Amino acid sequence: MRILLTGGAGFIGSHLCDRLLADGHNVIAMDNLITGSSENIAHLTSNEGFRFLFHNVADYINLPEPVDAVLHFASPASPSQTAPTGYLQLPIQTLKAGALGTLNALGVAKKHTAMFMLASTSEVYGDPLEHPQHETYWGNVDPVGPRSVYDEAKRFAEAITMAYHRTHGVDTRIARIFNTYGPRMALDDGRVVPNFIGQALRGKALTVYGDGTQTRSFCYVDDLTNGLIQLLHSGENTPVNLGNPHEITILEFAQIINRLTENTAGAVFQDGRTHGDPQQRKPNISRAEERLAWKPQVPLEQGLQRTIAFFKEKPAAGA
Ligand code: NAD
Ligand code: UDP
Repeated sequence: MRILLTGGAGFIGSHLCDRLLADGHNVIAMDNLITGSSENIAHLTSNEGFRFLFHNVADYINLPEPVDAVLHFASPASPSQTAPTGYLQLPIQTLKAGALGTLNALGVAKKHTAMFMLASTSEVYGDPLEHPQHETYWGNVDPVGPRSVYDEAKRFAEAITMAYHRTHGVDTRIARIFNTYGPRMALDDGRVVPNFIGQALRGKALTVYGDGTQTRSFCYVDDLTNGLIQLLHSGENTPVNLGNPHEITILEFAQIINRLTENTAGAVFQDGRTHGDPQQRKPNISRAEERLAWKPQVPLEQGLQRTIAFFKEKPAAGA
């Protein structure tokens, strides 16, 4: 297949480029590098099946050639309140990537009768009142809260994806991605994995927001990529949760990172993120297990070892 992948220079997007090329597809990675990096795809520039297009997906996409699939992954993704690449610092860009970007990407899929996949998120469940979260849960999102720029953009993106499916017959997929980590995460994007690993490698105390009792469930990027490929090749048009159901508190997570990096500086508690930091998050993945025959394989500590090894190579992490 020839595949258009928006957000191809990002963390997940670049892993997906690798996997799609390895599977024998041609990939056009489209990105405006607002939160991603050309470093993530530098190793692909000499690959004949790969092409990079610098473009903002919020602007009309005029592809010179037909494609067989459009995978829409372009969007800021970090909820950090301070990082310049967090979506709270890029509110309008985030809304545009989710709304106009999804509309434009769907337009390309419709024009070429191509498959379409949306990178949606567990954030559509907001601060969930149902636990674990099944795809049938409608969520608990504040439509005017600070995180709404991301959550509501993704909820709109899901809605327009289903509208193109129902109205125009586009063969769509919606992946609801839960916290994913691994090599190529941006060290400075403020998410918990790069923050904690960066702090640990510098011998600093890890900044636990709030009392650290909030939970997350972390999925290694190779597992996610496998799930995305299974979903693409399935006939599944309804949303599918992709994540690792192994749930831990953020304080436990900090302790694991400190142990794996032999950091003795411990943790320091800081004011929590204001408004809407989900208190618990764990995917119910029964739909993916039943319909895609997928479940994650990489245990947390193994995935973290690989991620720590990656960050150790980054000069800024150890500085
Ligand atoms: P990322 O920031 O590393 O990647 C996003 C990429 O999209 C970047 O390369 C960025 O430059 C590009 N981009 C953003 N806006 C753009 C625009 N207007 N035009 C063109 N390119 C644009 O983040 P990621 O973690 O790799 O996330 C990728 C996708 O997966 C996002 O859609 C995100 O919402 C979704 N997702 C990620 C996670 C996670 O845990 N990493 C969880 C849920 C959903
Ligand atoms: N967090 C933390 N310290 C940090 C960064 C994040 O305690 O330095 C917490 C944050 O409050 C949240 C969890 O870790 O409860 C996961 O945050 P992340 O930014 O990775 O993304 P989220 O899961 O909220 O989308």
